[in-house]
Amino acid sequence: MAYKFIDNYRERGARKKLVEHLKGRGIEDQKVLEAIGKVPRHFFFDETFWNQAYRDIAFPIGDGQTISQPYTVAYQSELLHVKRGDKVLEIGTGSGYQTCILLELGAEVYTIERQENLYQRTIQVLPYMGYKANFFLGDGSKGIAEHAPYDKIIVTAGAPFVPEIMLKQLKVGGIFVIPVGDEKSQKMVTIIRVGENDFDRIELDTFRFVPLVGDQAW
Ligand code: SAM
Repeated sequence: MAYKFIDNYRERGARKKLVEHLKGRGIEDQKVLEAIGKVPRHFFFDETFWNQAYRDIAFPIGDGQTISQPYTVAYQSELLHVKRGDKVLEIGTGSGYQTCILLELGAEVYTIERQENLYQRTIQVLPYMGYKANFFLGDGSKGIAEHAPYDKIIVTAGAPFVPEIMLKQLKVGGIFVIPVGDEKSQKMVTIIRVGENDFDRIELDTFRFVPLVGDQAW
């Protein structure tokens, strides 16, 4: 694929419309909307598909994976309540688009991807775009214990259950956002660590993610 990094008036205009669309779908967090308005999503697409980049759809990025739908990215980001300086663990780097949104929100991001091709691409593309994250290649279903604890953890693939091991990597007061269900659909689950051994769990809307594959997953 041939990637180009030009952000012209057409793409900027399409991005503004996408932000308005997401507001219309109920995204209220101004910082999340601003971040969506800043990150050039078409940079993650071959130029042939730039006309698809600001539609509210998931899109194939190779290796059987997808760049998440903008609404899903905004929804998960809103639930995380990212504050500047938060240490955030992201499971499933994929294209790196969600990573860029977290960085725009001021997070220090640790992100892990299990597919080598996607990992190789993001470690080149994101720094080129001016985004600095800590990238890891491997099975993120166990989290990344070496760098724990985290203020926030976001999983961007569908899990069969909440991996206990990741809950232990969350700070007290921290927020964990993970889609949980079967292969066809998952409920967005938010877990807040309210005490050393106390967790509050809320189940929200239904989504459809590619599967989280690994030791503590499918
Ligand atoms: N956040 C991504 C984006 O904005 O493009 C979404 C990518 S896609 C919906 C989910 C990603 O999770 C895929 O790239 C997939 O390879 C990855 N994945 C699945 N299981 C994983 C695991 N155990 N560890 C790390 N990454 C995993």
